[in-house]
This record gives sequence, structure tokens and C-alpha cells, in this order.
Amino acid sequence: MIKLVLATTNLHKIREIRAMLKPLYHFDFLTLHDYPNYVPPKETGESFEENAFIKATHAAHALREWVLADDSGLVVPALGDEPGVNSARYAGLGSTDKDNRLKLLKALEELSDSERVGYYVCAMALASPDGIQKQVKGTCEGTLLMTPRGGGGFGYDSLFQKYDYSKTFAEIDEETKNKISHRRKALDKLLPTLDLLAHKHQNELCH
Ligand code: IMP
Repeated sequence: MIKLVLATTNLHKIREIRAMLKPLYHFDFLTLHDYPNYVPPKETGESFEENAFIKATHAAHALREWVLADDSGLVVPALGDEPGVNSARYAGLGSTDKDNRLKLLKALEELSDSERVGYYVCAMALASPDGIQKQVKGTCEGTLLMTPRGGGGFGYDSLFQKYDYSKTFAEIDEETKNKISHRRKALDKLLPTLDLLAHKHQNELCH
């Protein structure tokens, strides 16, 4: 088995990524919860890609393991691309998902119906202790509601309705979200690299 550390402590992300990677039985998935002494770097990047790069390379170097990092968030063009890379701390450092949703709802009040659209972004970076190996990105476009709906998901899910769907991401079941989300789209692009890694590892074990 190859160890792959998911560079996050966000239980929602861990749950989703683990469920999506379940068919990859060659991997032993760990998270930062398994490394309580590891201090993650500050997310100083100006883009999702930069932050995913920082998180993956820092953890891979420090832990001497293969690492997969996810940096994600919601972008609303009519709000100058906010919450964007600050999605997790939109209402300030230490803010909860609810605080962030309330701030977003207030900002959405100022917009017209046609401006209440946005997209989720998920940038993923795969790094080995030698450095970055692969970066991918997935997006998912939808409309933003003025009234939260649904108790599932996390973050902005109760306000986000993907185009062509009548339910929010907090109303659809997790299995469906995992088939259509920004995270799914990013992971799909990473699968060939993970497959290759698993085969290389297996060959090394055989020789
Ligand atoms: P990060 O941990 O810095 O990547 O920030 C992720 C933040 O983006 C989360 O705390 C949520 O606010 C938001 N976010 C990312 N992905 C999702 C999702 O799938 N649903 C809802 N919110 C999300």
C-alpha cells in the first residue's frame, strides 16, 4: 500500500475525497489528523492553485510522504470574485461556515438576480517529498439563493444550486454531490497520475 496524506483537517473534505478515492485500493489514505505535531503553512497564495501548491509541497517535505492537497472555495464574479481564496475565513479569522454564509447573504442582497451566480473551484496538488508532481483544477457553476435550503454538505452548500439542478448542494445526497462537484472534476483529472503511481509502486515491489 502507498501512503497518501490528505493535507487537511476539514472533516467534510476528508469525507468527500475518501469516498471518491475509495476504488483506489492500492492507497492507504491518511490525513493531517494522523500528524498532530505537524504545523501547516500559512495560505499566503493569491490563487487556489498557489495555495494547493503551498499546502502539498510543505506537507510532503515535512512528513516525507506523498501528499494530496485541496484548496477550494466559492467565487462570485459580481462580488469581485469574493469569497474566493478567503472562502473559509470570509467573515474573518476563526469564522464558522454559518458566519460566512450570513456575510455572503448580506452581500448578495446588493446584487440583481442575474448577478447572483458563481462557481466553486477546487485546485488539487499532488506532491512527493521531492516536490510537486501534478496540479489539477475543477469548477462547478451555479446560482446563489437568498434563502438557505438543506442540511447536508458544508460551507456554502445550502446557498448553491448547480445549473440544471432544482436542489442545492445541501439538499442532494452526498453520493450525487460527489459525482458532479468541483472536487470530483479535479480528482478525475488526477486519477491517471494516481494510477501510474500505484503501478510504479507495484512494479517496484515485484522486482
Ligand atoms: P480551504 O480549506 O482554504 O480550501 O477553504 C475551503 C472553504 O471553501 C470551505 O471552508 C468552504 O467555505 C468553501 N468550500 C470549498 N468546497 C466547498 C464545498 O464543496 N461546499 C461548500 N463550501 C465549500
